[in-house]
Amino acid sequence: MTLSPPSRIVFIGAGNMARAIISGLLKQGIPANSITACEPSLEKLQDLAELGLDVSTNNVESAAKADLLILAVKPQVMKSVCTPLHAAVQARHPIIMSVAAGLRLEAFERWLGPDLAMVRCMPNTPSLIGKGASGLFANSQVQPAQKQMVEQVMAATGLALWVNSEDELDAVTAVSGSGPAYYFLMMEAMIKAGKALGLSEENAKALTLHTALGAAEMATSSDVSPAELRRRVTSPKGTTEQAVLSFQDHQFEQIVGQAMHACHRRAKELA
Ligand code: NAD
Repeated sequence: MTLSPPSRIVFIGAGNMARAIISGLLKQGIPANSITACEPSLEKLQDLAELGLDVSTNNVESAAKADLLILAVKPQVMKSVCTPLHAAVQARHPIIMSVAAGLRLEAFERWLGPDLAMVRCMPNTPSLIGKGASGLFANSQVQPAQKQMVEQVMAATGLALWVNSEDELDAVTAVSGSGPAYYFLMMEAMIKAGKALGLSEENAKALTLHTALGAAEMATSSDVSPAELRRRVTSPKGTTEQAVLSFQDHQFEQIVGQAMHACHRRAKELA
């Protein structure tokens, strides 16, 4: 992959999420020496330096050379990290992307100054293994070529989709941001029930996980909707139909809908 225009990508904070994006970028063929990782942990920096990255403990100096500045520290330290970067970003006007949960662009505009091209990204945990699903929102300063560059960067960690309003990122949180936990919960319940039906824990777990993987791969590799795929494996009066009817009797759709609305409300409260 070549990013256009040729650019320096600077990460402020090189923890789990930054590492996920960095490893995706390296896999895509982005030269390691065009990426700067800035971090207080010398141990983390040492690992990244061994991969050929430019590393630093000086956030201001690093931000001053960024074309794309990725803010990947925890939300609670974001203000104290951003405020000292104000002069550097006002001088260079890099594209700024935050991956922090719950922090609105308005806060970054206050800390870093107005008129900057900013993107807010809501990634999820499977980004750590290159199977992420991220929602992206750009403010009005972001130009089409810059959007393309940011999209290329996040696509290195999985699916990357643009939404049209920042509020939609709360819905992204309810679907994909928190979504992995819903599937883990389903897996937990299936493993417990498999054991109750007489399987060993080991077998119940292996069968459950591979079923989840197979179902996800079938659904993502096919043009057919999940509803139709479900109908195709549900023969009238068969075993699957009994399970589906039991789910429906217990208001499965409402349970999922209520859970996602609860998540959405919480995302709004935290923003
Ligand atoms: P993390 O703790 O692994 O990484 C944060 C890094 O920031 C650490 O390495 C820390 O040493 C560094 N740091 C702390 N203070 C710093 C400073 N003053 N200057 C520079 N670096 C500093 O956390 P993470 O899981 O990578 O999360 C980073 C961001 O990504 C968070 O804002 C989080 O909301 C968001 N996010 C993470 C996930 C996930 O699955 N991990 C999912 C969605 C969103």
